[in-house]
Amino acid sequence: MRVMKQFSEVRGLIFDMDGVLWRGGKLLPGVRTTFSLLRARQIPFVLATNNATQTFEEVRSRMDEAGVSIEQNEVLTSALGTAIHLKQHIPEGARVYAVGGTALHEALEGAGFSVQDSSDDVAAVVVGMDWSLTWEKLAEASYALMAGAFFMGTNPDVSFPTERGLAPGNGAILAALEAATGREAVIFGKPEPHLFVEALQRIGTPKTHTVAVGDRLETDILGGARAGLPTALVLTGVTTAEQVAQSDLQPDWVFENLEELSRELAAVT
Ligand SMILES: [Mg+2]
Repeated sequence: MRVMKQFSEVRGLIFDMDGVLWRGGKLLPGVRTTFSLLRARQIPFVLATNNATQTFEEVRSRMDEAGVSIEQNEVLTSALGTAIHLKQHIPEGARVYAVGGTALHEALEGAGFSVQDSSDDVAAVVVGMDWSLTWEKLAEASYALMAGAFFMGTNPDVSFPTERGLAPGNGAILAALEAATGREAVIFGKPEPHLFVEALQRIGTPKTHTVAVGDRLETDILGGARAGLPTALVLTGVTTAEQVAQSDLQPDWVFENLEELSRELAAVT
């Protein structure tokens, strides 16, 4: 049984971005209303995404378009979170090998790790979406994994939509390495709870009153529930109302969009 009876009792929020705030290049309805209300009520939030290639600057400029100004600590990508989480598994300042983009490299360096070009003697292999993936990179990663390096992935998404159809995502890169080495990666992103746990730590609000908001049942809602948070699904992204009706996994709230969420948030109880 959930502790929060009304959505307006919420003390903190952890928002997914794609399918919640925007879809493709288009801002979704209710972003401005929701975030001005949150600012007015001083309700803290984190924008948390599995996307390891997204940077804070990109998120900030998109939110700026909606008239919402956000701070660095209000954005948590799986690349940033992975770099922080990695500190629990390997020594500070350790050498790591990364298969991933600039955002992942920067996040790892920013957390004090030393990102190497070769995988010789690295403590960990970290894998995020890599737009210039090559066989050589997979081979480098495999050598270190076979030698026992810690294996971590930013997010498990096997595919993502493009204009021409579904393209391989980071989960597919991880699957290639897992097939080659027999090793299994520790995953930071949703539906694992770590992204929510890290976001919750940032805002410091009680778990019982911090709502995970997302557009996908099997990642956002499952991950939020695993982290012990109340959950809200918005129908502006991947999961449809029909899919919710047929699912065993039920969010605590279902909203058409952020506009409806902001009305519930504003509701005086
Ligand atoms: Mg989403």
